[in-house]
Amino acid sequence: MPRHANVALFIPFNGCPHRCSFCDQRSITGKAYQPTPEDVKSAVTTALDSLKENSIHSEIAFFGGSFTAIDRQYMISLLEATVPFIDRFRGIRISTRPDCIDAEILTLLKTYHVTSIELGAQSMSDTVLTANDRGHTADDVRTASRLIKDFGFELGLQMMTGLYMSTPESDVETARQFITLKPDTVRIYPTIVMKGTRLGDLYKAGVYQPQTLEEAVALCAGLIRLFEAKDARARVIRVGLHDSESLKENMLAGPYHPAFKELCESRIMLEKAYELLKELPQGSYTLRVSPKSRSKMTGNRKGNLIALKEMGYEITVMEDDTMSDLDVEIGEEPSP
Ligand code: SF4
Repeated sequence: MPRHANVALFIPFNGCPHRCSFCDQRSITGKAYQPTPEDVKSAVTTALDSLKENSIHSEIAFFGGSFTAIDRQYMISLLEATVPFIDRFRGIRISTRPDCIDAEILTLLKTYHVTSIELGAQSMSDTVLTANDRGHTADDVRTASRLIKDFGFELGLQMMTGLYMSTPESDVETARQFITLKPDTVRIYPTIVMKGTRLGDLYKAGVYQPQTLEEAVALCAGLIRLFEAKDARARVIRVGLHDSESLKENMLAGPYHPAFKELCESRIMLEKAYELLKELPQGSYTLRVSPKSRSKMTGNRKGNLIALKEMGYEITVMEDDTMSDLDVEIGEEPSP
């Protein structure tokens, strides 16, 4: 386990009354294992053995998207299981639906040292939310987000791009509306079409077309730049779905790539380089980047350098360990 890794426990929402267009929970309902309080204790104990004193920088994370909507006694039993260990962790992180947050539940979560709450908002367009059967509105996201901040929790917001009836413009608008809610963290998930979902039926009927990988990378690169701009300061902690066997087995279509975030970051570096170079005459230049960013600047199969060459810029990449990840600067004047 990496030094500051969270202890992640997946809590499936078996029997969820909703039918979100993209979710394949109906095909896994009853089959997904529901962790017991003993499982929580065992996972936390194992993590403590490995993290040792570094555990104080880690969180116990209950993921699955609907933590506050599961059976209340079950939810409390999972939180109770963390009590003997909680002083050795930074806190507890949960994810839930925006319409499953109110003052009563937030008060309860506070008593168990929950510190971060992530909302599966998915979109801030009511048209998109309705078309995808989310069962909540954009206003629910606003209300829940404000309440979470007022109670002093860290706020996380999750969005999906390329949902049925969305457009790149409506996805950018979702990001802009997120920023007004001042989230501490953001996760961005391009929509993947799964078997056994309504989206899958719409895809097979030719009614819904998922984004291509290229479209999703271009859009998500722009969203990362919006969220991480100085005036927004929302930390993007995940872009793209985790790689898993079950995902590969059950996906029908969509812009899935195991290193999706790296593709987006590489795109960001290409855009930043071009923004600097387009003010200069065509020619040969050196671009300075952090050592961490060299391969992102170069691009997959040198794709960024080839693209810049086609624009008339012959690039040499130089590492500069004083620079931050994803920053680009011109190293030298053009060679004669
Ligand atoms: S994504 Fe929607 S359908 Fe799936 S578990 Fe969550 S609320 Fe239920």
